[in-house]
Amino acid sequence: MALACVSNQCTKKTQDIDTAVNSITAESLAKNTQILSSDEFEGRAPVSKGEELTVNFLKEKFQSLGLKPGNGSSYFQEVPLVEIDSIPEGNLTAKGQARSFEFSFGDEFTAVTLRTVDEVALDGTEVVFVGYGIVAPEYDWNDYEDIDVRGKTVVMLVNDPGFATEDPELFTGRAMTYYGRWTYKYEEASRQGAAGAFIVHETKPAAYGWGVVKNGWTGPQFILPSEDNNISRCAVEGWLTLDVAQKLLNEAGHSFEDLKAKAAKRGFQAVPLDLKLSLLLKNSIKESVSRNVIAVIPGTEREEEYIFYMAHWDHFGRDPNLEGDQIFNGALDNATGTAGLIELARAFKSVDPPPKRSIVLLAVTAEEQGLLGSLYYATHPIYPTYNTVAAINMDALNIYGPMKDITIVGYGKSELDDYVEEVAVEQGRIVKPNPTPERGSFYRSDHFSFAKQGIPSLYTGTGNDHVEHGEEWTRALKEKYTAENYHKPSDEFDPNWDLRGAVDDLRLLFKVGYKLSMESTFPQWSEGTEFKAKRDADMSN
Ligand SMILES: [Zn+2]
Repeated sequence: MALACVSNQCTKKTQDIDTAVNSITAESLAKNTQILSSDEFEGRAPVSKGEELTVNFLKEKFQSLGLKPGNGSSYFQEVPLVEIDSIPEGNLTAKGQARSFEFSFGDEFTAVTLRTVDEVALDGTEVVFVGYGIVAPEYDWNDYEDIDVRGKTVVMLVNDPGFATEDPELFTGRAMTYYGRWTYKYEEASRQGAAGAFIVHETKPAAYGWGVVKNGWTGPQFILPSEDNNISRCAVEGWLTLDVAQKLLNEAGHSFEDLKAKAAKRGFQAVPLDLKLSLLLKNSIKESVSRNVIAVIPGTEREEEYIFYMAHWDHFGRDPNLEGDQIFNGALDNATGTAGLIELARAFKSVDPPPKRSIVLLAVTAEEQGLLGSLYYATHPIYPTYNTVAAINMDALNIYGPMKDITIVGYGKSELDDYVEEVAVEQGRIVKPNPTPERGSFYRSDHFSFAKQGIPSLYTGTGNDHVEHGEEWTRALKEKYTAENYHKPSDEFDPNWDLRGAVDDLRLLFKVGYKLSMESTFPQWSEGTEFKAKRDADMSN
């Protein structure tokens, strides 16, 4: 597109790019979103009738659009999963000097184990409050300094000290680092040899209410199989409500607010609590196989180089214990992004000139279980990671209408931002950093699995400045969605959604990927980004 258009042929080609761009429509996006989020698809749980319907629907769509199978002769990549259902026998009990407490599963605490064994127990373990549970040498921070937590249960805060204090000098200030994520906190507690690890839930620093914790962490959990049966992990990993944490700390003679304030200061010392905690979990374990769906449009000149588009097809399925609506339709999260893959597939099949590099469409499983499908692909890649030019992820498209802006989650991390910038200008839009970096969104969707392998990854947000209604209006609607519908059965398709903004975003992402596909250069991570060293090593092999 940088070429000057002097001939008729060139004009024709430009028009054909427009034809491809215009083949992405709100009608078709709505139709496929509606099908994927229908009750018939039962909430698209991995390893369910919903999976069967979903992966076959996607395969048929890709096939009928003329895409090739992405994995040899197959449109599927099998993803082995272990499903563990940990049921507590009795309550979580805490014994203090004076009193004992019992807490009920689901309403007051959650607990799972990643250990694939018949049962795990906390048997009167000592309890230690470890602040944020972070060991981060680069920030000169160690919440486990001078304390041995082996065999004990650690209780810790969600997010990181930078968020708590809004001090830009601490970690990355308000923006969440990976240290703020529960994944990291459990990993670190496991490295420290703790038997149990509980995170105290608070709505603001977690970025979601207790309902999300309860839905996500009760019932069967999926993990990828591991050779040591995950014995190196804590026996029990869970969450406590704020109320439970306050009771425990009070019983041990401390105040939550006081310890929380101390935990946000460098040099914080972990506090042993005069409490004994017990819990027994009985596991039922099932091995199963889910599927990523993968299709490819081979490039015409640089077929061995790949641009990925990805979206997670899965959601939470159905919960037979719920009164009323039992199906987690996951319409916004992430039927929209999955349907977006189909729009992009159509556009790339019709664009002329066709892409010189290969375009891969990847719909991954088990995102809601901890990014498992993308983690499996990224660690068992079908195409070499060093030849994977970029990955573009879509998770929950814009249902609010056209925006003057588009946001980039993880803004500034790579040169991919420049591509977005260029296309946004063509659309008359401006690029902004994600306004809520405290939610740690960069670490919460599938591109993160690719980024960890060094692949430059792009994750755009929807934009917030609505063309007619402005920013306040959009923010209010988004907050309402998070509070009322996020990860709940009420995330259902609504014919009143205004998908024109989603279409703008898809057209933008199409042009970004198309531009990348016509080049021979590789976009880079920015200096100082956490994934750059991995990429440089991968590319130099
Ligand atoms: Zn989700």
